[in-house]
Amino acid sequence: MNMINDRINTLLNGQKLATESIIEIFSSIQGEGKYVGYRQAFLRFEGCNLSCDYCDTEHRVGSHRYCRVELNPGSHRQLEIPNPLTPAAVAEYVNNFADITPHQALSLTGGEPLLHTKFITELAPLVRLPLLLETNGTLGPRLKKVLPLISIISMDIKLPSMVGQELWGEHGVFMEIAREKDLYVKLVIERESSTSEISKAISLIASVDRSIPLILQPVTPHGHCKAPSADLMLKAQEMALGPLRDVRVIPQTHVMMGQR
Ligand code: SF4
Repeated sequence: MNMINDRINTLLNGQKLATESIIEIFSSIQGEGKYVGYRQAFLRFEGCNLSCDYCDTEHRVGSHRYCRVELNPGSHRQLEIPNPLTPAAVAEYVNNFADITPHQALSLTGGEPLLHTKFITELAPLVRLPLLLETNGTLGPRLKKVLPLISIISMDIKLPSMVGQELWGEHGVFMEIAREKDLYVKLVIERESSTSEISKAISLIASVDRSIPLILQPVTPHGHCKAPSADLMLKAQEMALGPLRDVRVIPQTHVMMGQR
């Protein structure tokens, strides 16, 4: 891998390209959403514009001096590469995974990947995998900048009780922009989530396009978030079936398997 870095540094000599501090690059089984079970590469960015009760990622900007890069896909053996990285360096690592094992997509995750649109713009043409954007669905104007480069959008709708603010307007704008892509919405539900806020989320999706798939995800307990009852998940699905055409309940399967 160091040879790869040396080669890239030589190739980029003198060029001013975007660099970012990356948390990790690895290969795993997608554990959430519409494409659960597919083999994907993952690129985790620092930084987020929200602060969710159940967040399980240490994404503070500047807190990762090194990027953890998995040596071979699925090996769990990692190298620590000094940050920041160039798009070309990241692409080399991801393409190396894809050369060894077929992957469905490169999942851009975080943190909030849309805080890094310049980096994504430079990365996209270098990576030999379709891009899946995992986003909190609040930064519509930033999505516009990279929309042509993205194949799949996994967008959250955040319930006010879990993020401490109402984001209905931002989510609505975002969905209108994202709907031209392969878009699905993830709604994380915890024990204290109210049926009125769940209902509001369902109505918002239906008002944009009732064929957008909705994944209801029971929260994996973290911090003071507690898992919802099975009854609440059943109730939420009943509420959504009707207004929406495709509604599934899927917990985080990678957690069950002890995967990242
Ligand atoms: S949007 Fe995602 S990364 Fe940001 S705080 Fe919420 S759970 Fe964490």
